[in-house]
Amino acid sequence: MTHSHSQILALPIITHNTEDELHGAKEYYDTHGQRCIFCDIVAHETVSKIRIVDENEQFIALTPYAPRFPYEEWLIPKRHSSNYESVDEDEVSSKKIIIQTKSLLTPRFL
Ligand SMILES: [Zn+2]
Repeated sequence: MTHSHSQILALPIITHNTEDELHGAKEYYDTHGQRCIFCDIVAHETVSKIRIVDENEQFIALTPYAPRFPYEEWLIPKRHSSNYESVDEDEVSSKKIIIQTKSLLTPRFL
């Protein structure tokens, strides 16, 4: 890959990175009084406002602490949800809006 771009894939397997992320989230849950790491990230970033790229009522787009690659952004629902299958229609529309904005399509640090 010579340039940054986005891809959405549906795979019948769990990738190594996703497995690591799930393991880390479970470890955080077990060691932090059964707290969700992603909800804690949203709460922290909403207060600090350092890494927020864009947000709307239901989603926040942010650059993660210690990203794996340049311009990495995460799109996290503000309402706790363990999977995207539980996202309702309003949240799907909200996610479309935030993805379609310049925030997730244009490098923000040029
Ligand atoms: Zn959560």
